[in-house]
Amino acid sequence: MRTAPPSSPGPAEAAATAMARHRHDPHELLQVLREVQESCGWIAPEAIDCIVARLNLPRTKVLGVATFYSFLHINPCGRYRVLFSDNITDRMLGSPALLERLCRSLWIERGKVSEDGLVSVDTTSCTGLCDQGPALLVNGRPVTRLTGRRVDEIAELIRESVPLEAWPAEYFRVDDNIQRRDALLGADYRPGEAIAAALARGPAALVEEMKASRLRGRGGAGFPAGLKWQACRDAPGRTHYLVCNADEGEPGNFKDRVLLACAADAVVEGMTLGALATGAWRGFLYLRGEYRFLLGHLEAVLERRRAARLLGESILGREGFDFDVAIHVGAGAYVCGEESALIESLEGKRGTPRSRPPYPVTEGYLGEPTVVNNVETFAASCLVALKGGAWYAGLGTAQSSGTKVLCVSGDCARPGIYEYPFGTSLREVLADSGAARTQAVQVSGPSGACVPAAEFDRRIAFEDLPTAGAVMVFDQGRDMFEVARNFVHFFRHESCGFCTPCRVGTSLLTNMMDKLANGLGSPYDFAEIGKMNLLLQSMSHCGLGHSACNPVLTTIDKFPGAFQSRLAHEDFEPAFDLDRALASARQMTGRDDRAAHVWPQSTEAP
Ligand code: SF4
Repeated sequence: MRTAPPSSPGPAEAAATAMARHRHDPHELLQVLREVQESCGWIAPEAIDCIVARLNLPRTKVLGVATFYSFLHINPCGRYRVLFSDNITDRMLGSPALLERLCRSLWIERGKVSEDGLVSVDTTSCTGLCDQGPALLVNGRPVTRLTGRRVDEIAELIRESVPLEAWPAEYFRVDDNIQRRDALLGADYRPGEAIAAALARGPAALVEEMKASRLRGRGGAGFPAGLKWQACRDAPGRTHYLVCNADEGEPGNFKDRVLLACAADAVVEGMTLGALATGAWRGFLYLRGEYRFLLGHLEAVLERRRAARLLGESILGREGFDFDVAIHVGAGAYVCGEESALIESLEGKRGTPRSRPPYPVTEGYLGEPTVVNNVETFAASCLVALKGGAWYAGLGTAQSSGTKVLCVSGDCARPGIYEYPFGTSLREVLADSGAARTQAVQVSGPSGACVPAAEFDRRIAFEDLPTAGAVMVFDQGRDMFEVARNFVHFFRHESCGFCTPCRVGTSLLTNMMDKLANGLGSPYDFAEIGKMNLLLQSMSHCGLGHSACNPVLTTIDKFPGAFQSRLAHEDFEPAFDLDRALASARQMTGRDDRAAHVWPQSTEAP
């Protein structure tokens, strides 16, 4: 028998410690709950009582937040909480069979806690480790490159209650897997150089350089970063804030993980440039809960930069230039990647998207002007500060300047990170990554575009194939119906439940796809999917609901045979006209989702 894990503090004690660490600030509620979860393994009623009393918050509010995020639990779960990634590329690598194998070894049912409270095993949407899957999280720590043997060893370690610190370090190895560098990942400059260059120009000139660069947001929507910075700079407010959105939850996307691991200085330097341009004195880095393992590294980078006077008061000796960054860790909610939901989460609330306008640049964090940009956008802004807007605008295409960091996963020999100038063809990406016999590529995750082989000359660019980064490759052996079904399950799981059309619609859509999968479908179901699309597009509150039918519709469009084989009747004939359904949807909503193909983190229109 090996050493048992050290006993954890009691729930009230853990809550008191977490609240003290966060200065009893009610806006830090999510961080407090997350830390209680980490200390105790769940959020017990005693912890809730303590938080309600000390933060003077309604119990319903505390419970509302605690039940919103999938990594928080108000009921006991196993001392070892195992979550297998349910992303399609992990599934293709065999994660469902590995999950069953672990459950069998431990004699437990998926989704249940073992009778002795030792372990629980379930799935999570995507761990952001698609380049080194199958992967799982155990008590929030990632385990990569699972095999049957590794799963058996994990079962043994759990049975013997071996603390995670004593598990083989190799299990927790996360590689950057950078396969191709370009202007951003290949840049070589010292921390502080970009800030010094910006200070020499002055804040107004920095904003002009950003506008001249035509750098567009890298989170999906592609709003010009310079215009956003200008709008925030011009917005009246008591103070201004800056937020780095590192909550990449789109399945197939993992570039933020790698940028934060290998280029954190550039990301924080870009945030500091944003602060100089907008007058923000405080910044937040919202780190995806699945990337909790990067927290120590990021805190060390911030400390080093404070010591070098690149953060804090009078940055680089410039009187009045004060800015610092705090890291907030998410707790498993894809919808928080949408910037207004992210701001709600930062304020210690449920991550429900806000109605807009007003936009965050005028009324963001705590109602003050706030810039929210993606990790890659901030890192790229350093190149603009160093080399100038005109230089940056010379890279890429007329409508998409600069380079794009892509995350290639699925059926290819060399999955990983590839940086290309915008305008690079999908065919070139596939060749570089060693993809063969490719049937289709899903660009920009479940809400994006499913591109068949006949269209591989299409280009990565906002004007053709926009993407936050995900490029998932499917070879000719893959069943595109199952790919679409996985994406639909993803949307159902991640619907925040705020509005009925999305909450109910994503469930109905999932039921229809499951029915088709079981060979019980008919043309009637296709007509229902078309109607569901109209409903979701016109009535949903945010982009998640708007795009929930995209994977089904694009797959029906590009791979009708994959659906035909699922029908109970041989005389398949789609009962609705896809183009007519989409045209009606566009008429009703004024949107063209065939062109957008992206669930944007940001839809700023100041
Ligand atoms: Fe939440 Fe879905 Fe409504 Fe968006 S559309 S607010 S994700 S329920």
